[in-house]
Amino acid sequence: MRFALFGDIHANLEALEAVLEDASQMGVTNYACLGDIVGYNADPAACLEIVRGMKCPTVKGNHDEEAAANTSLDNMNSVAAAALEWTRRQLSADQQQWLKRLQMVRQVADFTLVHSTLDQPQNWDYVSNRFDALANFSYQFTPICFHGHTHVPRIYMKTDNKAVEVAAELIEVEARAKYFINVGSVGQPRDGDSRACYVIYDPEQRQMVFRRVDYDIAKAQAKIIAAGLPQMLADRLGEGR
Ligand code: ZN
Repeated sequence: MRFALFGDIHANLEALEAVLEDASQMGVTNYACLGDIVGYNADPAACLEIVRGMKCPTVKGNHDEEAAANTSLDNMNSVAAAALEWTRRQLSADQQQWLKRLQMVRQVADFTLVHSTLDQPQNWDYVSNRFDALANFSYQFTPICFHGHTHVPRIYMKTDNKAVEVAAELIEVEARAKYFINVGSVGQPRDGDSRACYVIYDPEQRQMVFRRVDYDIAKAQAKIIAAGLPQMLADRLGEGR
């Protein structure tokens, strides 16, 4: 079995298709989605239908929750709020219902999926350093937990009650360690690399590898402009910010 862990797709169809194509070429047999399927970019319904059709374990992201609600968006920044208002109008009642029913946490094989963090996942807290990661580890009962939310790929590792951040593209999984892995973002990377990002995990080989995939950024940007979404959302795809 080889798993592809992918999330923060954010309605970027070109990036999603490129990632799924890469995963299939890499011999991936199973998929798991870390949430934020919609929001920001121009193809929410198409991306939702692809992920729904895959029938893979999927957890809910904060944009999925907001896109399926009719609550006020006043507490969000104006760009995210504008995109979510637009997104709500693109999704059918049935599609919103599917988003609403997504679970916050799922366990698959020897790993857990959560969009933000395992301590109070409904608060959508951001894990930005090893101290934030340490709080998560207290609630992590599987050797590995995959997450997203910051759109920045990161590896946090816990051994002997200490959490450290590791920089690597390939991880050889150690038996006595715990891992909290941010798989990066398919549809809106923010680490300065504009390519789509996801992780492949092979439990038998005990290896995880980060993949970066080129996709048609210009096409995704043109759709954002044509939809009347904020220009800044198109610009940031080119910058990977
Ligand atoms: Zn996100």
